[in-house]
Amino acid sequence: MGTPKILILGAGYGGLLTTLQLQKKLNYNEAEITLVNKHNYHYITTWLHEPAAGTAPADHARVSLDGILNKDKVNFVKGTVQAIQPEEQTVTLENGEVLSYDYLVVGLGSEPETFGIEGLKEHAFSIRSINAVRNIREHIEYMFSKFKNEPDRTDYLTFVVGGAGFTGIEFCGELGDRLPELCREFDVDPELVKIYCIEAAPTALPGFDPELIQYAMDVLERKGIEFKIGTPIKQCTPDGVLLATGEEIKSKTVVWAAGVRGNNIVEKAGFEVMRGRVKVDEYLRAPGHENVFVVGDCALIFNEEGRPYPPTAQIAVQEGETLGANLAALVRGDLPQKFIPHLQGTLASLGKGEGIGQVGSKKLFGSTAAMMKKASDLRYLYKIGGVGLALKKVKL
Ligand code: FAD
Ligand code: NAD
Repeated sequence: MGTPKILILGAGYGGLLTTLQLQKKLNYNEAEITLVNKHNYHYITTWLHEPAAGTAPADHARVSLDGILNKDKVNFVKGTVQAIQPEEQTVTLENGEVLSYDYLVVGLGSEPETFGIEGLKEHAFSIRSINAVRNIREHIEYMFSKFKNEPDRTDYLTFVVGGAGFTGIEFCGELGDRLPELCREFDVDPELVKIYCIEAAPTALPGFDPELIQYAMDVLERKGIEFKIGTPIKQCTPDGVLLATGEEIKSKTVVWAAGVRGNNIVEKAGFEVMRGRVKVDEYLRAPGHENVFVVGDCALIFNEEGRPYPPTAQIAVQEGETLGANLAALVRGDLPQKFIPHLQGTLASLGKGEGIGQVGSKKLFGSTAAMMKKASDLRYLYKIGGVGLALKKVKL
């Protein structure tokens, strides 16, 4: 092999951290590193619930790749991956360009899991990218303005959030915060606005600590969120949702936050998947493909009890860092390290100054959790872009 070609797909948490590690570890002539991403920016997915509700500008969650990639070491291609051909060791982009590789890193993130529920793909929104959240924010504002012209249509002021996992809960926290401002701006009586958070499981945030769940629900209920727990959404139509109980909620805004699956490009490439995620080995390799590595939401890893780790940014970052170092080792003929996740806890926001968290056995509530979350955001920004980026982006 001449200079090895390393091709990284996706500049999310997993792909970007792999690239930054390679950029740090290798000299410019040791490997040909190419990063392909749909946009020329990285987005901070963990903040997307804020611009979706309109409590922060979408730009705030964007980080220009130009500012963090070293052009002497990384060739950046702005393009959309259409297909991976592992047998040929090539990747095809939507513009027809074909890229070849010696090592491939797949970090294409996730897509909403709709469980085959009728109408969701067509009629529901989801919090998945900068463009998607801009659309949600503008749609919400449009609903308020439409109601002012058709005051009988209270369905314009009814908002449905499907799923009370962390995404649904964090979005409800922001929407609850935005509500008073929207009502003032559009002269709408707050009593007319309804926000439903609908959860199939017998509890919100299934599997999380009951005391923290109760705290989160109390905070959100005070902001006007109405929970319907143990109530699966069965169908979504242009006019709202139908619940398994037979109840229909009329709404023009359904935000589906009921789980994710791996990017369908991975399954289409012929890799063996579970919910679109490749069950990778301890070196993050796809089974049967020594030179294909998968990180982030496209990868599936298990804990010692055989339970899958949830798809999180926290794990995607760690995978990217380990993989970047391992690829550098492989290029130099050194041995790679096994990937072992180190869970640092969970922190979730409930809107301005409010949050919940669990770090080890310690439970965090309210402003303490919110501050810890900001500190964790700050660490991430520092990691990818140094002090400059951290100072530019962090909100105190
Ligand atoms: P992503 O970060 O989604 O990145 C995928 C990248 O691939 C993107 O840049 C995308 O543009 C690009 N891409 C996709 N398709 C193509 C294509 N066809 N061609 C080219 N490029 C493509 N996790 C936590 O640990 N903590 C949190 O606090 C947290 N908060 C969250 C809040 C919200 C609102 C959401 C939605 C998720 C949150 N998560 C959190 C989960 C976390 O964001 C994901 O697990 C994480 O983003 C996965 O990283 P990734 O690198 O796999 O993919
Ligand atoms: P999730 O899978 O964690 O939660 C989805 C929820 O939707 C579940 O509670 C599920 O029971 C419910 N649901 C499924 N089908 C339903 C139906 N038909 N009707 C009503 N409810 C239904 O998904 P998520 O919240 O999008 O999170 C995705 C990943 O991102 C998770 O791993 C999560 O931990 C992570 N995340 C983390 C944070 C954080 O740490 N602050 C924030 C957001 C997301």
